[in-house]
Amino acid sequence: MSATSLFDTFGRLHDYLRISLTDACNLRCVYCMPNEKMLVTPSAKLMQANEIESIASTFIELGVKKIRLTGGEPLLRKDAKAIIQRLSKLPAELTISTNAVLVDEFIDTFKTANIHSVNVSLDTLNPDEFFAMTKRGDFEKIKKNIYTLLMHNFKVKVNMVVIKGINEHAIFDFIDWTKNYPLDVRFIEFMPFAGNAWQLEKVFSYAEMLTMIETKYEFEKLEDAKNDTAKKYKVKGYSGSFSFITTVTEPFCGDCNRLRITADGKMKNCLFSQNETDLLSAFRSGKNIRPLILSCLKNKKLERGGRFDFENIENRSMIRIGG
Ligand code: SAM
Ligand code: SF4
Repeated sequence: MSATSLFDTFGRLHDYLRISLTDACNLRCVYCMPNEKMLVTPSAKLMQANEIESIASTFIELGVKKIRLTGGEPLLRKDAKAIIQRLSKLPAELTISTNAVLVDEFIDTFKTANIHSVNVSLDTLNPDEFFAMTKRGDFEKIKKNIYTLLMHNFKVKVNMVVIKGINEHAIFDFIDWTKNYPLDVRFIEFMPFAGNAWQLEKVFSYAEMLTMIETKYEFEKLEDAKNDTAKKYKVKGYSGSFSFITTVTEPFCGDCNRLRITADGKMKNCLFSQNETDLLSAFRSGKNIRPLILSCLKNKKLERGGRFDFENIENRSMIRIGG
């Protein structure tokens, strides 16, 4: 099977795979983790390091060029370093999304694995608000770890989920932060997942964000890379940039090139798809997973998993999918 197998029925080439390593996390972000007592998937049911490597290799043989590790918090896994090292040997770009609490322990691992870009979640620059949004007190550590990443020349994108009435005012703080630091801060519209109390009224939309930012800054539009989910801007003269991820009000599914595997080895062809394909069970019983991958991709819907409204969401929670 050739490296051009990963087209869906709409002609979109899928060459980007996001692999969740765990549904456990050391933070409790209100928009992501359903509740404090969520049971994490037992280790035996998670893809093991060798399984992740083999399954990822199959995707690469089919045409995947880029892999992002995510979770839950991927760096929480005891074998995270081993998994990163194994995947770094494969012929695909490797990147990671993390809350950065443990990043200082991974700088050397990232470097030897040729990871150049790290996405970090942070929703406010105020420690008290951080505690309210995550139920944990790791704000200073995360901020310090972001500076450590910059010092070591990693490209850092900071992901901020904007929830109306909760943290939209922090948009100004984040833009001010880009004045002297080469960060790309990404403002993400609050998305609906199981157990996150989503309501359309809580979405601070792209249009609202732009209107708010216009009151304070002079900024310019930058060119967006192909398949980029973010719309990128920059305040004139600032070192960094800011972007918007507009899944709710302006979905960017037309260019989608993403596939996902949950930590328990289920393939999802879209963040919002309700169907999953159990690759791990097939792999464990010695089956060829290629036909399963291709048929999962062929079932991909044109937009947002075929959901045109966001009410009555039937999906996993974000923490169990892997954002
Ligand atoms: N723990 C890592 C982190 O926080 O970056 C990786 C996993 S997290 C699920 C991946 C991304 O999903 C984060 O940037 C987070 O902000 C985003 N996310 C989680 N729930 C979301 C929601 N309801 N709407 C929009 N983005 C969300
Ligand atoms: Fe954990 Fe990331 Fe979800 Fe926050 S967004 S609860 S850090 S997985």
